[in-house]
Amino acid sequence: MDIEKIKKAPVALAGCDDYDREKVYETVKRLLTSIGTCEGTFKGKRVVLKPNLVAAKDPSAAVTSHPSVVDAVTRYVRECGASDVMIAESPGGSYTEPFLSRIYDATGMKELSENGGPRLNGDFTSVSVKFAEGKKLKSFEVLTPVSNADVIVNIPKLKTHSLTGLSCAVKNLFGAIPGFQKFEMHAAYPELDDFSEMLCDLDLALYRDHEIVTVCDAVFSMEGNGPTHGSPVFTGMLMASASTYALDVVAERLAGLGGTTRYLDIAAQKGLVERDPDKIEVVRTGDAPDAFKLVLPDSKKPNSFSMRLLIALPNLLGGKFSRFFEPSPKINVGKCLGCSNCANVCPAKTITMKKKKGKKLAVIGRKNCIRCFCCQELCPHGAVDTVKNPILKLIR
Ligand code: SF4
Ligand code: SF4
Repeated sequence: MDIEKIKKAPVALAGCDDYDREKVYETVKRLLTSIGTCEGTFKGKRVVLKPNLVAAKDPSAAVTSHPSVVDAVTRYVRECGASDVMIAESPGGSYTEPFLSRIYDATGMKELSENGGPRLNGDFTSVSVKFAEGKKLKSFEVLTPVSNADVIVNIPKLKTHSLTGLSCAVKNLFGAIPGFQKFEMHAAYPELDDFSEMLCDLDLALYRDHEIVTVCDAVFSMEGNGPTHGSPVFTGMLMASASTYALDVVAERLAGLGGTTRYLDIAAQKGLVERDPDKIEVVRTGDAPDAFKLVLPDSKKPNSFSMRLLIALPNLLGGKFSRFFEPSPKINVGKCLGCSNCANVCPAKTITMKKKKGKKLAVIGRKNCIRCFCCQELCPHGAVDTVKNPILKLIR
C-alpha cells in the first residue's frame, strides 16, 4: 500500500447509538464509502477480518469487537465483490484448539459464522516475514491467512491499555502475530519506547504487503484497566480510516488520553501521521457527532496511567529513572485461583506457582518483571492488581 496515501488518509466518523445489525451495517457502509473504500478495494480479493478477540468474553463486556460490526463489514465487502472473507486473529494466550474455539464461541463469532457470516480461521501455521526497513522489527511471524490475504480489514475496539495507554487500530494488528510469540516480543522489547517502535514497524510491514482499512468499534468502548479488566463506557461512534495511525490520534483524544500514547509520538516522528488531531482531516458522515466535543475527560484511565504521562514528558523523569516510578503488577491473593495462566504467559518467566496455606497461588519475582502487564491482561479472574509508587499516587 502506498505510504503517501496512509500519511494523508482522513478519518471518517459516524454516530451509532447501539448494536442493532441494520443500523451498524448502514453506518459502516456510509463510513467506508466516504473514505473511498468500495468495489475497487475488494472486488475479487481475499479479505481477512482482524477483530479484537483477546479473551473469551461476551460482547457486552466491551473487551472484544462486537459481532454486529464484524457482520456489517462482512456484508459490505461481499457486496463489493470480495472472493473470500475470513476472520483471522491470534488472541491473548495460546493460539491452538480448543482455546480458539472457546474464544469464537464466547465472543459471538461462531454464531455469526454459522449464520452466513465470515469463515473462521482454523489454520494455526504462520509465515516468516522479513522487514529490513524496520527500525526495531527486522523479521517476525504472521498468521498464514493474514499473510495470504490481499486486504486486511482491521476491526479494533476502542480501549484503554495498561502498557500502551491506548489500544485501538495500531495495537490491534499485534494480534496478527501468533500466540506466545507475542509474549516473546514483550520480552525482546521490555521498554515502552522499544515496544512502541516495534508496533509502528509491524503496521508498516503489514501495509507494505497489504491493503489495510480500519473500522473501529467505539459504540461501547472500554475505560479503566483495559484491555481486559476495564469497564464498558458508551461512546456512540463508529470510525474508519485507511491509516491506523490517524485513526488512533483521533481515538486517543476521544478516550481522554490525548497526547500520551508513545507509539503515536513515534509514528509522528517517522512522518506517518500528524500528532495534532486538529490537523487530521475528519470526515463526518450522516448524523456524525463532533468527535472533539465527545472527548471523555473524566473517563477512567488505567491504574498505570500516571507513568504513561511521565514517560510522555520528554526526558524528564522517564528514561533513566523510569523503573523507579513504574507501577507494577501485584497478585491479589484473595482472588487468585492458582490457574497458572499468568505464569504461562509471563514473557520474563518471573511468575512462579507456590503453595501457601494449602492454596496454590501465583507469586511475582519483582526483580525480573518488565511491567508489561500481560499477567493482568490474561488473568481470567481479575486477580492481578496494579501497585503504584506513592509519588505517582500524588501526581495522578
Ligand atoms: S492467572 Fe490470575 S488466577 Fe490464575 S494464577 Fe495468575 S493471578 Fe492467579
Ligand atoms: S510479572 Fe506480569 S508484568 Fe511482570 S513481566 Fe511477568 S507478565 Fe509482565
